Formats: sequence, structure tokens, C-alpha cells
Amino acid sequence: MIEQAQQALKKIYGFDTFRKGQEEIISGILEGHDTLAILPTGGGKSVCYQIPAMLLPGTTLVISPLISLMKDQVDSLRRLGVSAAFLNSSLGAAEYRGVLRSAMNGDYKLLYVAPERLDAPMFQSLSEQLQIPLIAIDEAHCVSQWGHDFRPSYRQLAEWIGRMPNRPLVAGFTATATNEVAEDIVRMLRLRNPKTYVTGFARPNLSLSVVTGADKKRFLLRFLKEREQQSGIIYAATRKETQQVTELLQSEGIEASKYHGGLSDAERMEAQEQFRFDQVRIMVATNAFGMGIDKPNVRYVVHWQIPGDLESYYQEAGRAGRDGEESECVLLFEPADMQIQRFLIEQGMAAEDRKSIQMSKLHNMMNYCRTDRCLQQYIVDYFGESDVEPCGKCSSCLDKSELTDRTEEAKMALSCVGRMKGRFGVTMVAKVLKGSRDKRLLESGLDRLSTYSLMRHLPEKEIADWLYWLVAEGYLRLTEGQYPTVTLASNALPVLEGRETIKQRVRATVKQAHSASASFASPVFESLKQWRKEAAAKEGVPPFMIFSDATLREIAVAMPAHRDELLAVKGIGAAKADRYGDELLQLAQELRSLHGGAAQRVSSPSSNQGESPQASPVARASRSVGEEEPSHLASFQLFQEGHDPGEIAKQRGMSQVTVEGHIIRCATEGMAIDWNRIIVPEEEPLILGAIEEAGAEKLKPIKDLLPESVSYFAIKAVLCKKSMMG
Ligand code: ADP
Ligand code: ZN
Repeated sequence: MIEQAQQALKKIYGFDTFRKGQEEIISGILEGHDTLAILPTGGGKSVCYQIPAMLLPGTTLVISPLISLMKDQVDSLRRLGVSAAFLNSSLGAAEYRGVLRSAMNGDYKLLYVAPERLDAPMFQSLSEQLQIPLIAIDEAHCVSQWGHDFRPSYRQLAEWIGRMPNRPLVAGFTATATNEVAEDIVRMLRLRNPKTYVTGFARPNLSLSVVTGADKKRFLLRFLKEREQQSGIIYAATRKETQQVTELLQSEGIEASKYHGGLSDAERMEAQEQFRFDQVRIMVATNAFGMGIDKPNVRYVVHWQIPGDLESYYQEAGRAGRDGEESECVLLFEPADMQIQRFLIEQGMAAEDRKSIQMSKLHNMMNYCRTDRCLQQYIVDYFGESDVEPCGKCSSCLDKSELTDRTEEAKMALSCVGRMKGRFGVTMVAKVLKGSRDKRLLESGLDRLSTYSLMRHLPEKEIADWLYWLVAEGYLRLTEGQYPTVTLASNALPVLEGRETIKQRVRATVKQAHSASASFASPVFESLKQWRKEAAAKEGVPPFMIFSDATLREIAVAMPAHRDELLAVKGIGAAKADRYGDELLQLAQELRSLHGGAAQRVSSPSSNQGESPQASPVARASRSVGEEEPSHLASFQLFQEGHDPGEIAKQRGMSQVTVEGHIIRCATEGMAIDWNRIIVPEEEPLILGAIEEAGAEKLKPIKDLLPESVSYFAIKAVLCKKSMMG
């Protein structure tokens, strides 16, 4: 059976190998086990139930709460040649009946159903008339109260499934579940001796950062300017902030869509479609946006404020890089923003005990913002996974900055709070420390306190942030309620008595570990993207549904001349080769005559007719020893595996300069490259300056203008990067 699954993966999806966990999950289901599978976002959950659905007799039900996602999945399946349909509230009455009729006929291999659409009679008639081998429950955490996204309609599911005469297999899938939630899922869905798979929550292609103490506006504008070709999401906590951020971007001439609950359905739909179709690159949104967005090529997610809990954060941030390519998640943290979340919880409709769960989750979220631990580690630990190595690229891992001693300022603030006797809020304490002439302050006689104007050298807002930081660190406490007042916490005492010092780390920049450059493009890649955009427009689907960026990039390098070569590209299965093959092969031919460079591989003997290549060019290069393989790809492959040019040179018996040339050449041909392995980020502006001064014709004059430590390789890399951007 698993061989058949393997074949389906290749033939239908065009993928050569299963991702971590997929094979075990699929064979578990095919062997007849109930299943709980916890895979990170982008881990490839859909394949885990779609392949069994194709191989098992009858119709698999997929329960999913996400309407837009259902449509995408069904569209994608149909393009792969698999019969599928969905039932949800987006269908008109006639359409709905039509789908239902066909479903009862057994016309579909997969039927997606929204849980709200299922009521007892409907469920019964489905189960009586249809052969249902498997019920797959997506976003299974929605069944748990302990989760962050509880949905009552999920509760009833279990009930009905329990009552089905021939109970099918049940498989739950989710990306976020603490141990508690996982147990709850098993219990609520009444899984029978389920096999549980946890492939880990870590997302190695994401670089996580927390930025504290930055001028958010300036930070954001710079961040976006450096990532002009990329698609990204900016999450803000409220509608108002969403509006303001959008206006900020517009005032700088940066085009962005916005999305929040206050817009009409039509407006939201339009914003979402523009984003999905790559017509607008940036989406500014509240958390209303994203449930069901599976756009795979989102390169960054910036949080303008902290969200209410770590589950939400990871889910939202995790919308970056679903396609597995390097992506960035930046959280802009100001302690004062915590108030917004507190307020949202307090004003919320949840029951009291639920609110206190939410409060403690918020606390954890804040700890994430302040931790010095690896951020990836912190998150996976929160989900119960404790044996993960530091990621090496989050803002904590990269942070070499010294801690600043802030004991004196802490004492000022704490003693002021002590003197105000818990009768005032943070704003008033800040005014006192600033020495403000505020009317209410004077009326209350607060200007007579010995701490009045102690911190007059700082702006009032900064003082307030400082106070919030002390709250977050547990030295001060805020009362609950609409007008929280601030008091000393027990931790404050040792500080006031001089027994404890307070250190603060200020992170104001995102280190450029994996900057945007990782995925910028060559002219060939751009032409392919343009083709994809047109093809998508013709069919009225988002571009990613035609091919992923990774697939296009591989085409750009492979420049396939025959159908066999096309099928060797990752992400091209039989149906897509049938559908787009001719057009792509023709386009590749045109591009070959236009851009000689990228055509190199095609003229190599390995692509002679009759010999059908098994692997992608990159994979081929990695096992290349023979002359026939393009040498530069082989060097590049080794470079991508983490070797530096010196090692590669030794291994391949050639000079280091040659190897460096290979790497640069691959970059010009459109291979994604992490420039920061070659260019020290701080040196880049220097090098650019030197190029400006000495011109780009010769390397030596540029090198002479620079410090000894800057290598020729770095200069070549900057030249290459520059020429490709321009
Ligand atoms: P999830 O639902 O877990 O977030 P998806 O099922 O949407 O993830 O898959 C994420 C992406 O990974 C999709 O673009 C999918 O086509 C791709 N993918 C899934 N399995 C594989 C595989 N075995 N090899 C390559 N790509 C895969
Ligand atoms: Zn890390």
C-alpha cells in the first residue's frame, strides 16, 4: 500500500519524497489506525489525508473550519485530476443541492464539509448512503476548550461520529497543540487507540525576531524597503491600528491592502484576492485575516503589536514560509502594547474562568518577548517539546549585545510607585517622574513627592514604557479592570534595598541573518513568474495554484527541453505537465535564446534525447563527478549544504577562486542564495560605497578602497546582488 502512496506522491503531486512524518501517518491510516497528527504549518498535512482518500474505496470526509481554505484545496485537487468538492455556506442553495446530490452518488474522492454545515440528520444521511472510509478533521485543536480557538460545532462532531453504524477511521490534524490540548483532542473526538505522530513544531525555515525599543514606524518602512519584491503580512491588534499602518505605508508610496472585521464582506474579499493573486504584495490586517490563507510564498510576517497568546502568534507568524523557503517573522514589542491585549481580554465575551486562562496565556506571550533564550526553542518548549537545539538565527541566538545595567532607573521608578500607594495608573506615575504640570497631578499634590521629576531627562512615553517593562518583568503589578492602577510587586523589594540589580537588553534591529536576498530573482525567474501570473489570470486562480516559487526557480535553472525533464522538476506531476507542458517548454526555449547564460545546462550532454533524467538538476549536480554535469551546480550544491568555498575547492580539486565563481554564477542564474554567508552585513554599505567611487569595471580599485578584511568574493557578491536587484 505504501508503494502506491509513494507513486501517488510522484505521479499526482510531482514530489519525489515524503516530508518528515508523512509516510508514517499515511501508512498508519492505510493500516486502519485512528490517528492524531501534529505537524507544523507547512509540514504538509493535506497530503496525509488526501493520499489515503485517493487510495481507499469510497468518499473521505474532510472537516475543516476554514471556508477559503476548503475552496483552495478543492481547486488544487481538481487541478491535480482528483474529484473533490466542498459543502459550506459560501455555496448558493442550488449549488449546494447539486454538490450534495453528486456526493450521495459517490462522485467525489474527497468531500470537504464545514462543521457548522453538519447537523444530525445530514450527517446520518451521508453516513447511510455513502461509503466513508475515513473522516479527516483538520484544525482538530478547535475541539478543545484549552486551545486558543475553541469551536462548539466541533464538539458535536464526536457525538455523531460515535453514533455512525460503520464507524470510519478518524484522523485529527493540527499544527498547534500543547500536551493538554492533544489529550483533549483524543478524548473529545473519541479516537480509538490512536497512533499519535508529533513531528515537532520547529520551523527551520523561519527566522524569528523580537524587536524592542525601536521606532516602529521607521523600522517598518526600512524593513519593507529592503524587501521590495516580497510578499508579506503585517498584523496589528486593532482595526484602528490597521488603518494607521496602512496610511503610513500609503504616505510613503508603498502599496498595501488592508483587512479587518470592520470592512464589508466585499471589501475583505477584494483585499484577500488581491493579495492571493500577487497583485498587492503587502497585507495589513487584524487577526481576522489568515484563517484559511494558505498562500505559500509569504516571505515575512511582521507583528505591529503582540498578540494575545503564543499559539496565535505562532499560527500567524507561521503563515510565512509555508513553501519551506527562508522567511522572517518579526515581532515589534513595546511593553505598553500589552495593555491593548489586556483590554481585549477584559472587554471580551468569554466566561470568567476562560478569561483567566487567557490572562495567563498573555503572560507567556510577554515572556517570549523578553526571553534571552532561543526563540524557536522557547516556542517549541511551550508546546511540550524540550529537546530542540538552538536555531542559530533568531534574534536571541544572534544577539551579542551587552546587557545594560538599569538598576538606578528602576529604583527611581519603583520608589515613585511605592509613594503613590497604588492609587494611580502608569500614565500618572510617568507624569510624576517626568515632572509634568498636569492639572490632576497638581491637584493631588503629587508634585510634592520626593520622586517628582526624577526622570525629567526622558520623554514621558519612554518613562511609561519603562514602567511597563518593569510590570512585564514582574517588579510592578497592574490591577485588573478598566482603569488598572500600579503597585509594587514583591520582587521590587530586593531592588529597592540594593540587593538585586536589573539588566535590560535592548534590541533595536533585526539582524540580517537571512535577509530578503535569499529569494530574489533572476530575469529568467521573473519571466516565468510573469507567465505564471498571466496563466493564473486566465484561469482565475491565484498564481501559487499553478506552480510554487520553488518549482519556477527550479525550472529557471533546469530550462527543460523535454517533457521528461519537466516531470523531473519538483512540483510538476502528470496533470500539470499535460496542462502546462507545451507552453512551458516553448517559453523555456524562448528564454534560452534570450538569456544565453541560463541555457548552459541544456546544451550539456546529460540532456540528450532519449536519456531521461531522474532527478532535478540540483540533485543531479550533487552526485556529479563526471564531466557531463555542470560543474558550477555541483559547487553550488556543496555550498548549499553548508561547506565554505575553501573546503569545496579542496574536495573538488580546483582553486577557491573557481569555486567562488561557480557560486556567483549560480546566483546570476537564479538559484536562491543566502548572501549573508558571503557578505558581512555591516560591510555591505562600505562595499557599495567603494563601488560607487571606483566604478564596477575592475575589482582591484574597489578592493583598494576597503579594509583588508573585505574579500574579493564579498565584492563580487555585492556586485552580483546589485546587478540583479537593478
Ligand atoms: P499544512 O496544511 O501542514 O500547513 P500543506 O498541506 O498546505 O501544509 O503543505 C504545505 C506545502 O508543502 C504545500 O505547498 C504542499 O504542496 C507542499 N508539500 C507537501 N508535501 C510535500 C512533499 N512531500 N514534498 C514537497 N512538497 C510538499
Ligand atoms: Zn534561536
